Amino acid sequence: MPARLPPTPAHAGPLDAALGPEDLDALWARQLMIPVDGITRQALQDNFTAGRGNGRIHAALDILAPKSTPVLAADDHVIGRLAEGPVGGIVIYAHDVAQRFVYYYAHLQRYRRGLAVGDRVAKGSVIGYVGTTGNAPPDTPHLHFQVMKRGRGRVWWDGPPINPYSFFALDGIRP
Ligand SMILES: [Zn+2]
Repeated sequence: MPARLPPTPAHAGPLDAALGPEDLDALWARQLMIPVDGITRQALQDNFTAGRGNGRIHAALDILAPKSTPVLAADDHVIGRLAEGPVGGIVIYAHDVAQRFVYYYAHLQRYRRGLAVGDRVAKGSVIGYVGTTGNAPPDTPHLHFQVMKRGRGRVWWDGPPINPYSFFALDGIRP
């Protein structure tokens, strides 16, 4: 049963405040996959710092794709939370096996059939489908994809966000 959605994951305050170089090295080592089927690095837009009002920034990537396009696990995941609410719509929270990072997927049309909390999912596996649930414009289906460091001693969806734009594996060149 879908749980109540936690507060919107848009973040205020200094970017990457609690992140160290070791976190970015660890994320680079994950060699993330672009989490929407058929989307190339060239097609990605970096809209991480887009304003969201009241000094908040987007703190995530919006990846535009037709409705029902498969959403793929960006990393080897454990599914941590499945929820539905008025902002993110149908969402997935997942973490890497070491629980260093949290990955948030929002505005899904639906989950992959049978997806459940606790599932281990290999990088590149289908976990859901692009949609317009929550506050996504009905004519602009997209995946809202966010990566966060899992904060120690904090609720696990509220760690500092990291811009994943430069962390996808495709070109293998770290900026
Ligand atoms: Zn978004």
